[in-house]
Amino acid sequence: MSKYALAIHGGAGTILRSEMTAEKEKAHEQALLAALQAGEAILKEGGAALDAVEAAVRALEDCEYFNAGRGSVFTHEGRHEMDASIMCGKTLEAGAVAMVQGVKNPICLARRVLEASEHVLLCGAGARQFAREQGLEEAPPEYFYSEFRHRQLEEARARGKAQLDHSRKYGTVGAVACDRHGHTAAATSTGGLTNKKYGRVGDSPIIGAGTYANNRTCAVSCTGYGEYFLRGVVAYDLSCLMEYRGMGLEAAAYHAIHHRQLALGGDGGLIAVDNKGNIALPFNSAGMYRAWVKEGEKSSVGIYKD
Ligand code: ASP
Repeated sequence: MSKYALAIHGGAGTILRSEMTAEKEKAHEQALLAALQAGEAILKEGGAALDAVEAAVRALEDCEYFNAGRGSVFTHEGRHEMDASIMCGKTLEAGAVAMVQGVKNPICLARRVLEASEHVLLCGAGARQFAREQGLEEAPPEYFYSEFRHRQLEEARARGKAQLDHSRKYGTVGAVACDRHGHTAAATSTGGLTNKKYGRVGDSPIIGAGTYANNRTCAVSCTGYGEYFLRGVVAYDLSCLMEYRGMGLEAAAYHAIHHRQLALGGDGGLIAVDNKGNIALPFNSAGMYRAWVKEGEKSSVGIYKD
């Protein structure tokens, strides 16, 4: 039996202390800790890492602060097109959805793709149809609406750019876990970029780029400007640094973000856990919403660099 470990993120970006209020900080920390608890409750009972990461991400999707599920940003056309993926480090099975609309919890849909389909990635209307067939909960456009997000869209439209949910202080969400059996899993969910168009899809639903898990190495969930994470195949790169170069989790995670991503010009971070329950949370942006816990230790939560 190993000791369990769980880490979650709520997105990396330009999260500056000077632009936060104590109230906002506290609200985010509480939301992160609640999601961490949702995942930890499963691991504590001897449950599977795969169930724990799904539960943690689902809790973050239900919270309007984060750019996933309910809090997803708007596309250029004023819709919500969500991406999510989940991977089991024990079996290397994976499920993912892209550009899905009207599904309350895209991470649960990704899990259904993993469990109940012969595919890895479903997108758009087909993913929605699969959600219906699987009996997943749907939600109307009002559920995903917030004035704050709408204002962000108008600002981005005025600038004529698709933008990372940076100045939002809220972001893409993810979770990684190692359970008591030494099995790992990773999950990521996002609304993508504000004002995105042409069916843009980022790294979050792409296995190997935004999400990866392999018991032999680690489980990883990324956040940041997706185009760079796609080009860097970051989650798999980290796993490869461990597998082929023999690097430890901390060193490999640091290298993936601070050397390889920075060299490409990428901005963001990741969370990772190995099969011994070690955790790494590197980021090269101003901040990253994050929380983590190891069996027998107190939960921790962080927003800024220091
Ligand atoms: N990686 C996500 C994307 O590009 C965005 C984020 O992490 O905030 O879709």
